[in-house]
Amino acid sequence: MTHFSHHVLAINQAADAILKHKVNSLQVIPAVAIKLLRLTHDENANVGDLSLLIETEPTLTAKVLRNVNSAAFALTHKVTSIKRAVNILGFSAVRQLALNQLFYNKLIDHKSKQQFDQLFFWQHCLFVASLSRAIATVLKHPDPDLIYTAGLMHDIGKIVLEAHGKVSYSDFILACKNDEQPTLLGEQDFFGLNHAEMGYTFCQQWDIPEQISAIVYCHHELPDDNSPFAIYKRDIAIVNFANYIAWLQGIGSIARNNPPELHSETSKYLAIEKLDLETLLNHVDREMQHTREFYGIQFPNINRLRAALVQTTLLLSTHNKRNSNARIHTDDISITSLTTPHKSLISSEIVPWTLTVIQKDFAFERLLMLDINPKQRSLAATYTWPETLDKNSLQAFSVKLDELPSTILSSLRERNAIIINTHNNKNSSILKQFGVEEFLIVPVLSHNRLVALLYADKHKTNTPMTEYCVNQILPIIHELGVALANAKRFALEKKRAELDSLTGLLNKRMVTDCLTQTFELKPEQLSKVAVGFIDIDFFKKFNDTCGHQAGDDVLKIVAQIMRTLTRPSDFIGRYGGEEFVFVLRNTDKQGAYSYAERIRQEIERKGIILSQRFQGHTLTVSIGVSLYRPDFTNYQEMVEVADSAMYDAKHDGRNCIKIK
Ligand code: GH3
Ligand code: MG
Ligand code: MG
Repeated sequence: MTHFSHHVLAINQAADAILKHKVNSLQVIPAVAIKLLRLTHDENANVGDLSLLIETEPTLTAKVLRNVNSAAFALTHKVTSIKRAVNILGFSAVRQLALNQLFYNKLIDHKSKQQFDQLFFWQHCLFVASLSRAIATVLKHPDPDLIYTAGLMHDIGKIVLEAHGKVSYSDFILACKNDEQPTLLGEQDFFGLNHAEMGYTFCQQWDIPEQISAIVYCHHELPDDNSPFAIYKRDIAIVNFANYIAWLQGIGSIARNNPPELHSETSKYLAIEKLDLETLLNHVDREMQHTREFYGIQFPNINRLRAALVQTTLLLSTHNKRNSNARIHTDDISITSLTTPHKSLISSEIVPWTLTVIQKDFAFERLLMLDINPKQRSLAATYTWPETLDKNSLQAFSVKLDELPSTILSSLRERNAIIINTHNNKNSSILKQFGVEEFLIVPVLSHNRLVALLYADKHKTNTPMTEYCVNQILPIIHELGVALANAKRFALEKKRAELDSLTGLLNKRMVTDCLTQTFELKPEQLSKVAVGFIDIDFFKKFNDTCGHQAGDDVLKIVAQIMRTLTRPSDFIGRYGGEEFVFVLRNTDKQGAYSYAERIRQEIERKGIILSQRFQGHTLTVSIGVSLYRPDFTNYQEMVEVADSAMYDAKHDGRNCIKIK
């Protein structure tokens, strides 16, 4: 018996011990779905089988037909047969639709304790499935649909444990104290096997195709070369990577979740640097949106995801602290170096942390991050190791790109790392300028664009650098590039989370934050605060007669007018549908009134100019303002007064201002 089959036997036994029923009797996935999984990709052979299978489930049939008859396909005749639906939508689309539907019914149906959030979990599975398939497609994988299915199923072990464990997955999460994250090892201790092993046992006993079982089994850890699953390494790497990205996005499988490990070999199998992550993620977002609409369900809202993302980030930073004492190997690069760039989503943390671990692994004596300024075509040091390098020596590293030796320029063009020293660079002016005899330059690529250069030297000891060291440092810098791209995306998302997407003004959450801060001002400044509500008059008419788009345009126009008439020290935001808020500082009754009046007049004026476009509707607003009074104990009271002043303005014939 091989080592592996011993292990399989052991996990099968562990599964029997922990589950309420035998694994091969569990209906975790409906029988139809299992048959669907076993259908191979051979379309010609299988269209009939697929149709037959779907027709055995009336609700499934209904869903598939509803989808093919939806507006998206704009068919003139209603499709009433599944066979025809398969012809129109395509074999793989129908199979996927059916699988999603079956999994969804099963997963979302049963009541579970709140520690294990079904919807959150389902969203995670869909995300991983969708991203996995998108990557597989880019990599010209022969069967991207299979990868989709494997992504959908990768965490099936958690469902088995949750639904059928003598103690459930919720119990496990509950048992993990605050300081103790649910990990694979934790699962092992708690259940006697981890969820990947549980999933594998399930797949095996239900005869799920081996390729899928292999991915389920290995999605946290690539198999070694002796494993029977070594042949699926690339497939596994895809799901491993997608799972990691899901987690980075705050879409983990459970709310409190440990970072899954991005296996160091994953980049070798996927050539991550060549993946256009932005396009891939956009594609996945669209697919998720489509799914949301199809099921008519609301996934956890965006704020909830953001919260998860923030938790993720916090976790990353605590992780970093915990790992900071980890042992570093000197003869080889450490896993710490590869993962450190991913321990934060903020560039100003990522870069110095990475420089520090690189220094430890390679014993460089000086490390600089030279950022490229594309406009000025120059390089300048942004981060250094040690952090305390003196200003004068840094000055030497500001260079115009055109002044770099051609050897460096050509290696940058080819995205190569290069060692420059007195042997290979006769024209040594750059060496003199940097005050060294040898240095290393590594290009930092983000989304395949050159964004910075890493400079490293051993100027004190003059220890020569080797090709070996160059090869070792490349994967780390590659991870750094990926992490910087993620950080950029994160910063953008964070900004978006603060702004209303239609008008670009602060959203309600940010307005309330700002009001809270305002109420913490000193009494003297607080007494000069005014809060106002602006509400568009008869806004519904714009929507009803000119269409929703015209309504949206009106909102943008009002927002733009507010922007141009507001001082930078004041705040404006969109409070709700067609309601805007302003918070003025350092003002009095007269000041607040003139501000409001300028806005009222400007909107009215703009409305007259645009009246043809809005079919004669007049664009006006009613404004209510409240001035600070010492009897306000919180901002809500002040907001209520402004709101009621605005209603007074409405009752008084609209298009006017009331101050309370
Ligand atoms: P009043 O003068 O009394 O304020 O009348 P009104 O029609 O402006 O007010 P009401 O609050 O009754 O209607 C507001 C409408 O605004 C209802 C809602 O459909 C619409 N609305 C809310 N948000 C948006 C949006 O983002 N875009 C568009 N086009 N319409 C929106
Ligand atoms: Mg209104
Ligand atoms: Mg209203």
